[in-house]
Amino acid sequence: EGFGAAGSGQSTSSATVAAPRRAVRTGPAPTALEALEKVFGYDSFRNQQAEIIDTVIAGGDALVLMPTGGGKSLCYQIPSLVRDGTGVVISPLIALMQDQVDALTAVGVRAGFLNSTQDPAQRREVEQAYLAGELDMLYLAPERLRVSATADLLDRGTIALFAIDEAHCVSQWGHDFRPDYLQLSMLHERWPTVPRIALTATATEVTHKEIASKLQLGEAKHFVSSFDRPNIQYRIESKNQPMQQLLSLIRTEHAGDAGIVYCLSRASVEKTADFLVENGITALPYHAGLDSRIRAANQSRFLREDGVVMVATIAFGMGIDKPDVRFVAHLDLPKSVEGYYQETGRAGRDGLPSTAWLAYGLQDVVQQRRMIQQSEGDDAFRRRLGANLDAMLALCETIECRRMQLLAYFGENSAPCGNCDTCLSPPEGVDGTIPAQKLLSTVVRLLRERNQRFGAGHIIDILVGKTTPRIAQQGHDQLKTFGIGADLTDQEWRGVVRQLLAQGLLQVTGEYGTFAVTELSASVLDGSRPVKLRKEPERTSRAAKKSKVASDLPAASVDLFEALRAWRSAEAKEQEVPAYIIFGDATLR
Ligand code: ADP
Ligand code: MG
Ligand code: ZN
Repeated sequence: EGFGAAGSGQSTSSATVAAPRRAVRTGPAPTALEALEKVFGYDSFRNQQAEIIDTVIAGGDALVLMPTGGGKSLCYQIPSLVRDGTGVVISPLIALMQDQVDALTAVGVRAGFLNSTQDPAQRREVEQAYLAGELDMLYLAPERLRVSATADLLDRGTIALFAIDEAHCVSQWGHDFRPDYLQLSMLHERWPTVPRIALTATATEVTHKEIASKLQLGEAKHFVSSFDRPNIQYRIESKNQPMQQLLSLIRTEHAGDAGIVYCLSRASVEKTADFLVENGITALPYHAGLDSRIRAANQSRFLREDGVVMVATIAFGMGIDKPDVRFVAHLDLPKSVEGYYQETGRAGRDGLPSTAWLAYGLQDVVQQRRMIQQSEGDDAFRRRLGANLDAMLALCETIECRRMQLLAYFGENSAPCGNCDTCLSPPEGVDGTIPAQKLLSTVVRLLRERNQRFGAGHIIDILVGKTTPRIAQQGHDQLKTFGIGADLTDQEWRGVVRQLLAQGLLQVTGEYGTFAVTELSASVLDGSRPVKLRKEPERTSRAAKKSKVASDLPAASVDLFEALRAWRSAEAKEQEVPAYIIFGDATLR
């Protein structure tokens, strides 16, 4: 006995979470199951925990891919207790280290941490404990290892294992890259016999490989759990009045619930939090621009109080272990499916029904494409960002089960889930060829006839035939396509534009987010490529209006087709979208 609740001498299999105290480890080390029961108060292992723990206890390396809330921590905590020496945990979650250590101390595990928030005296105390063999676990911020004194310190004690938590931070392509993670390969070089376990909830094949190679985990056993989170209901809808949509989600389905609302910018975090507070919701902001004390205070209120809504940038959430987050809402489009999956995964760790809700609009797509074009880095980097965004858009615009698509992205096959918006109310797929042709011909005409490019708002004004001052000033009411799209609303047109962008039939160019056709557009205009669109669920009833000049289109398309064909053959020579359509006045009739 003699381990765990110090000196109690009683063997109870229930959670004996006594008042915080320092356990003095005297007798033999516990077995894995004893540690699970007596220290953590659980009666069985979950997922692949038992095999992972056995592997590490036996001195082997492990690479663990397990979804958020799956129970990764025990995979290194228990081996740290069972093996001789101290388990050293590398974690980027500096703000959570105190909490983690407190939680461990409360159950009798001797734990400490070293990071930049400590003063020298505090640091020394932890170092002494480590050297005296009085620590079961030591949490280290990755930048600590830059200091050679840290490695020397570790050498003077006994290391039970290295755990590299949030191992995807090593990925330069990922959403949480930490440069200090790159040097973690030194662990293997300097301590080749110490077992290492790397853990992440990020699951794509690419990241997986990158972790294995960057951390020199060539010999490691891989443990890949299913990434399905069946209790999370995935829903994606188009953005009209995002804050109102959010408010109605909270009021109708999640009144009094804890939740996280993600926004892209600090400004929109502030605005959204203010809006929610004005509407009687307990909401707090969190972003990197806030004073660190305010951030810490907000985070701790979110964790400790019931029913707090955290409005945050993606700076918030990694490693936060709050079991009863009932909803995660995105007011802006995430940059990748991986990011989306991570963020939504913070809902429902307790396994109870939870909502992942995303509102996204055309502006999101335009803005993100622009950000990619303007981003630093080489072409390969931009291509990768573009591919990430494309996958995210495909998820948004799918007419199939969201979960199937999400899991497929992580290489898992599954059947329709019955618990996502597309399963619950299957969207109608409609033939969108004619609207697509109308839109694309407007884009082509503007360039061809006026040598101009415009963004969505103006193009839609032309299509629906709205005489705005800008339309008048530009004389765009004289365009052949003016008013040919009056059968659809502005909102519906935005949906068409979004989906054409998602399908690669339209592209955003230039720093102002103006549109251009793509190589695929020609086949739409000539009718050889049918366009399938997702019909927006009807929110407000609206009398269908009749198209003004529907007959204008087919004739126009034929000539455009010629032009585009010419362009396609010229395309091999010229990269830029050229002043390609060189034909006379009559051709666009
Ligand atoms: P992850 O790091 O994978 O996101 P955590 O390690 O934080 O997940 O665990 C998530 C929650 O599940 C924690 O509250 C943890 O105590 C609980 N948990 C983990 N393993 C078990 C288990 N075998 N039985 C019961 N609860 C568990
Ligand atoms: Mg974790
Ligand atoms: Zn589904």
